[in-house]
Amino acid sequence: MSVTVRVPAKVNVQLAVGAARPDGFHDLANVFLAVGLYDEITVSPADELRVTCSGPDAAQVPLDRTNLAARAALTLAERHGLDAAVHIHIAKDIPVAGGMAGGSADGAGALVACDALWGTRASREELLGICAGLGSDVPFALVGGAALGTGRGEKLTVLETGGAFHWVFAMAARGLSTPAVFREFDRLNDGVRIPEPVASQDLLDALAKGDTDALAAAVSNDLQPAALSLFPELAATLAEGRAAGALAALVSGSGPTTAFLARDAAGAVRIAEALAASGTCRTARVAASPTPGATVL
Ligand code: ATP
Repeated sequence: MSVTVRVPAKVNVQLAVGAARPDGFHDLANVFLAVGLYDEITVSPADELRVTCSGPDAAQVPLDRTNLAARAALTLAERHGLDAAVHIHIAKDIPVAGGMAGGSADGAGALVACDALWGTRASREELLGICAGLGSDVPFALVGGAALGTGRGEKLTVLETGGAFHWVFAMAARGLSTPAVFREFDRLNDGVRIPEPVASQDLLDALAKGDTDALAAAVSNDLQPAALSLFPELAATLAEGRAAGALAALVSGSGPTTAFLARDAAGAVRIAEALAASGTCRTARVAASPTPGATVL
């Protein structure tokens, strides 16, 4: 017997970053959109906890108990007095260390999968609570769709969307560490007075209406200068995507994946082909949004 859960990547259409707090974290106003690039998590009974991973980036995924999928299974088992004797297989299609919350997706996916396998029937509140304990981006991978995250990004408000948006994601040749990007943000903003992060009303309206042009005009990412500072080659990728007709081009989350908003599905395919041919990225993929969160297949 096994259970498979499909879980999406995310793009931040707004990532507003506040000043570093005394605990080192930053308050955020984070507008998440779940996009159609997925990892699939399959869990099946085993003698002991074991993690395996397949896919182009599999070699970069830790298979020990630091893997967020393993941590999710251990947390659920502990809370319900169970032994986490489970084989977790991650079929990985979300780029690793790409700023698309792939590890977070695996955490949410493993949690939903183990809950179904073990019949623990945890409430939505309990699952969301465990997700928040695993990391700031994990609750969103559970709910999917579109949402505003505040606090460290983990307090979620679901947002309505009025239509589909078509994206291209350009994967970079190497990853970027999220903590390193925040450290670079702090360095670049040393001595600068940073305003409270707030969600853009224009952006929320654009999402609610499904208005691609308005969304393109409103997207923003306060981490982009820090990501570009650590990974200057991304500027060329962004320029190629714009030249190929992208309505907006931005770094996804902490990067280094870059995200391009297209007018429609056909436009996305054209931009992806141009990016792939440009030699400024490893691969380019099209993906539509929004898409549901962790879903049992
Ligand atoms: P975010 O967008 O949330 O900042 P990211 O997409 O940049 O995250 P991830 O792919 O989630 O980055 O992984 C970041 C690091 O977390 C990896 O380099 C890896 O060491 C570790 N990690 C833990 N669990 C996983 C997992 N299941 N898949 C991938 N990486 C994982």
